[in-house]
Amino acid sequence: MSQNEKAFLYETHLHTSPISKCGRYSVRDNLLFYKSMGYAGVFITNHFIDGNFGGDRSLPVEEQIEFYFSEAEEATRLGEEIGIDVFYGIESSYHGTDFLIFGLNKEYFLSHMELFERKRSDFLAALREAGAFIVQAHPYREANYIDHIRLFPRHIEAVEVINSSNPAPFMNDLARIYAETYGLLQTAGSDNHFAGEYCHDFGAMTFSHRLESVEDFIASMRRGEGNVCVIPNKNQKEM
Ligand SMILES: [Zn+2]
Ligand SMILES: [Zn+2]
Repeated sequence: MSQNEKAFLYETHLHTSPISKCGRYSVRDNLLFYKSMGYAGVFITNHFIDGNFGGDRSLPVEEQIEFYFSEAEEATRLGEEIGIDVFYGIESSYHGTDFLIFGLNKEYFLSHMELFERKRSDFLAALREAGAFIVQAHPYREANYIDHIRLFPRHIEAVEVINSSNPAPFMNDLARIYAETYGLLQTAGSDNHFAGEYCHDFGAMTFSHRLESVEDFIASMRRGEGNVCVIPNKNQKEM
């Protein structure tokens, strides 16, 4: 993209409270912050009910899913009020291996919960069959909640090559080699759980047009139009 071409900036990996148990700030706090940073939009990717979900796990699965998606309508309204576009994905977890999944709605998950019992490669294949855009998130992250690194190069469409919450730069370098070696698409995101209190640079994506929908995001990615980048964080401080 040339310097004078306008770029629209997006966060593709964002956690909010209370849907993500580990999210520290509300949707409103996050939208106000990203608006102040000049972003065109955010993709909220809260931990799904197979991950660090903030809902009541003693409830029936259907009710957990209803709660998970309950935030979306209000978030869209808040986005209109604040002037920033809000899109939804999910972050699905498999024993510490995480996937950002875009393009499937509440109704899909409500009627396909049996897929979560299948082995992960079958699960991913079924979701892709249904049209999902699947990104393996931070594939080389090492952390106390990750027992070992697993790769699914034949069952994903993209790799998160910049995750600015990764604890070491080489984890992103390896992710990029993974994507390039297998010819997979590349995304960047922050995995921000702290809204404006986030203390690393931001992983971000730009597009040359304003994204209209999740479907437009997916189609644009598949046309190779998404650019990964890092946005400096002026509030950077030691953890
Ligand atoms: Zn989290
Ligand atoms: Zn995440």
